[in-house]
Amino acid sequence: MPFVGLHVIPHVPIESPTPWPDACAAELAQENCESHPSIRQRSLAIAQDIATAAPDVIVMIVPHGLAMEDAWGVYCNSFAEGYPAFKTAGPWETPEFKVRVEIDQTAAREVLAAFNVNNVPCQAVTFRGMVMDWAGATLGHSEAIPIHFIRQKYTKAKYVFVSVPGPEKRMRNSPQFLPELRRVGQALHAALTSTNKSSHLSQQRVSVVISCDLAHTHPIRPESRVYKAGRVRAPYGEDADASKAFDELCGMWAKTLKGNCLDAAAHIQEEARSCGYPGLVVADEMLKKHRGKIGARVEAENALRTGNFWYDVWVYCGVMTLSVTWS
Ligand SMILES: [Zn+2]
Repeated sequence: MPFVGLHVIPHVPIESPTPWPDACAAELAQENCESHPSIRQRSLAIAQDIATAAPDVIVMIVPHGLAMEDAWGVYCNSFAEGYPAFKTAGPWETPEFKVRVEIDQTAAREVLAAFNVNNVPCQAVTFRGMVMDWAGATLGHSEAIPIHFIRQKYTKAKYVFVSVPGPEKRMRNSPQFLPELRRVGQALHAALTSTNKSSHLSQQRVSVVISCDLAHTHPIRPESRVYKAGRVRAPYGEDADASKAFDELCGMWAKTLKGNCLDAAAHIQEEARSCGYPGLVVADEMLKKHRGKIGARVEAENALRTGNFWYDVWVYCGVMTLSVTWS
């Protein structure tokens, strides 16, 4: 069975660079350090789950990649590289965290073909137009931070990067976006579980990783170091009720894998402003299809299990980890 696990990893700027460009950022760095143990520990636990599943390919759904207005992008360079920092030059430059991974180009093309079959608007993306191996796809924090953790436990996989459409489409009108998100999940599941012997993916062990932060509109706590340093409002606006309700619905989904929790969350996504939400819906659809495919036997044997669900609020942003594996 080539589809061997599904995992959610956050991409908040932990283990971020020093020196910091201003006093408030320095306080943010300190706050990062204080929340390091839990976020790092949980992300590394997920990385260990991935190492145990030993995938040949990791398909990563990323919300801050090269985002097209309407289409899903699949990177088709032979490799990808970049930094977990938000900036790659100047005082935030972090060469020590540079990551570089190989892209499975054949798998990427099969994902694109599956998207086309399922009526998902998509584009092959080749950074710098290079057909040779001189230049790779550029990675940012939503790819490089999860990889930064994964590679501490496991370095054998090649990657496929699937970039979510841009903020206009994914942040607004989420209820209308839901059918497309579910078609993406169906397409990915079909590609990963193909029984066609000529399919490359059918011969690979594949893990799916959702790079995901939850609501970005949690109020900054007055006791926070960032607040005391002068950043009293969350940068994307604050909505205490929506952010809390949204994250609770995502948490409910993580514990039960009941998709209607995510359907309900769609109605407050615009207020909660979660970059990772589309990936969670894709994940839900994949798991629904997978349970359907392997069916009652697995349900009966209780072989499908969720583990490692963990939730916290980092400064103004909800973060979660989740592992779903089966045997
Ligand atoms: Zn994000």
